[in-house]
Amino acid sequence: MIPLEKALKIVGRNIPRLGQERVAIGESVGRILAENIVADSDQPPFDRSMMDGFAVVAADIANAPTTLKIVGEAAAGRGWQHKLKRGEAVRIMTGAPVPAGADTVQRVELTRSRFQDAEEFVEILEPAKKGMSVVKKGSEIRRGKRLFVAGDVVTPQNIAALAAFGYARVWVAKRPRVAIFGTGTEIVEVAKKPGVDQIRNSNSITLAALSSRFGAAPEIFPNAKDDLASLKKAIKAAVRGRDILITTGGVSVGKYDLTKAALTELGAEIFFEKVALKPGKPVIAARLGKTLVFSLPGNPVSAAVTFYLFVRAAIVGMQGVRTSSMQEGTAVLSDAVKAAKDRHTFTAARLANDKGGRLVAIPLRGKGSSDLVSFANAEALISLEMNTRAEVGDQARILYL
Ligand code: AMP
Ligand code: MG
Repeated sequence: MIPLEKALKIVGRNIPRLGQERVAIGESVGRILAENIVADSDQPPFDRSMMDGFAVVAADIANAPTTLKIVGEAAAGRGWQHKLKRGEAVRIMTGAPVPAGADTVQRVELTRSRFQDAEEFVEILEPAKKGMSVVKKGSEIRRGKRLFVAGDVVTPQNIAALAAFGYARVWVAKRPRVAIFGTGTEIVEVAKKPGVDQIRNSNSITLAALSSRFGAAPEIFPNAKDDLASLKKAIKAAVRGRDILITTGGVSVGKYDLTKAALTELGAEIFFEKVALKPGKPVIAARLGKTLVFSLPGNPVSAAVTFYLFVRAAIVGMQGVRTSSMQEGTAVLSDAVKAAKDRHTFTAARLANDKGGRLVAIPLRGKGSSDLVSFANAEALISLEMNTRAEVGDQARILYL
């Protein structure tokens, strides 16, 4: 049994970097940037009006109400290409360039325009501070400045910046190709009605969903039975052309736990097979050819926790994500939790806020590592060093799921 930190380091050291590919911007959300994103122009590209109103010289309206002559119109996409003089105003729309000579926009609600002798005038009802409702050219970002770097993820939040600076196609890391299968003579497919002694395979679909979430391209293979020949055949078929293989089940010390034997017979290099971790003590990390293999415990909660700790790190690391550890935080405990004597312990928890607005972790009182029903509500893992306990009201370290 090796310490958790050591196991994480071993995985970290053995993650190869995958290549990159160029995808259409619309396909890039969730992908990891393989290039830096640089502003190709000032933003905004010109002094831009934030309001519908009148472009003026602030000094002209300092003693408003005051009347100015309307000399033109600036609309979005159709600016007024002259120089505004003192005593003049230009009708301006949101998004339009503020004409040269003007320094301020007074919004239309604070104005009244009228015709007189075929000329148009506007009465500005209130003064405005110089620069009001004008976003200066380059004030959001200057041309040539870097916004995001290789290793950052593309999100719905930052994709607007990629679009604004012309990244119609984006270099991103290739998706790790992940093969997944379950092992266990008792496992049947989700669509089947389990017979006596049988259960449905809930792990493969969970691991595929988790793999996709972290940017991989997963593929589910048929389950293997608990015999060496079946396991070896399944492993050989699944590793071909894949960056990662994830299997579940058959890693414990039972008579039919044969995954390690199958891997060894196929010539895999085993990095570790037992980690001081709860849940998830029996967990194999190995390499077969160029494929990283993670053989996770069959119990659904153990499989999910070991995925988050080890497989997730490999998937994001292959894509060049800069920090591959899970997002951490602290929360106040609503109940006491206790670690195993000799293993780093993770307890699934729900999160809430107490009356004072503090983040609270509420441990899920499930029936252990097989209880996928209780784990369905998990939002975080409470992380406890081996042989420690934490009491109600203590601040605990949590990992967000
Ligand atoms: P094992 O790790 O093979 O000893 O399996 C531990 C427990 O997890 C057993 O109760 C298995 O039936 C269950 N299990 C194994 N594989 C799966 C799977 N793919 N989906 C759901 N439960 C599983
Ligand atoms: Mg089994």
